[in-house]
Amino acid sequence: MSQQTQIDRVVPKFEAFIRAFPSPKECAQAPLSDLLTIWQGLGYPRRCRNLHEAAKEMVQHHDAHVPADLDQLLALPGIGDYTARAVLAFAEHTEVGVVDTNVTRVLARVMNKPLGKREAQNVADHIVPSGLSWEWNQVMMDFGATCCTARTPKCVECPISQSCMWREKGGDDPAPASAGTSKPQARFEGSNRQARGKLMKALVTSGLSREKAKRVMGLEDQHERADLIIESLLVDRLIIEVDGVLQLAL
Ligand code: SF4
Repeated sequence: MSQQTQIDRVVPKFEAFIRAFPSPKECAQAPLSDLLTIWQGLGYPRRCRNLHEAAKEMVQHHDAHVPADLDQLLALPGIGDYTARAVLAFAEHTEVGVVDTNVTRVLARVMNKPLGKREAQNVADHIVPSGLSWEWNQVMMDFGATCCTARTPKCVECPISQSCMWREKGGDDPAPASAGTSKPQARFEGSNRQARGKLMKALVTSGLSREKAKRVMGLEDQHERADLIIESLLVDRLIIEVDGVLQLAL
């Protein structure tokens, strides 16, 4: 839920979601439309569909539990290197490195070289202190977010400046050329993503004809663009069309 989404918007949705679906079993048994109704407002609804499909796989293959194994987690829909390791480190205290954009930036600067995704992951996995996985990963992410920041790193007060090769050698910042470091987000206002969100929100209340859907999106004069957005939601299996009426997927 918190991927690309501010945490203060996530908290009430997370709490409502967990109340409604306290375990993978309840989540898997509910129709997708029930999940999407709670998800409404968080954006990126494919995450919601992936979560639903992951819950179904947990019920089918993992005795309705979240697996505590890296490969099994990675095989679930919507789970990548970051989420799998975050689950392992924070729920299971497994010694793996959780690599987000902040962590990649810190590692690249300390090593003074741009890091590819695989290399950053390998380094992160190998430097977790024994028995301190939860704490270490929290510290790494917070350190990148508050001290070794993207634009104005606080090198003077940095507690690890003595070990930082970028600080010692100078030169170009190796972080921007590293994999997975933040790129500016595309403008939301007027975007297709905004139009998709408007339509998904309206469909929580009732089904809509295509004509009404286009009006909801504010695209009644842009039929081609509106149809493409509707098609993208159909392809993503977030909505269905029954007898000319669009509705949330079940
Ligand atoms: S010395 Fe500066 S660049 Fe190096 S880790 Fe500390 S804050 Fe980041």
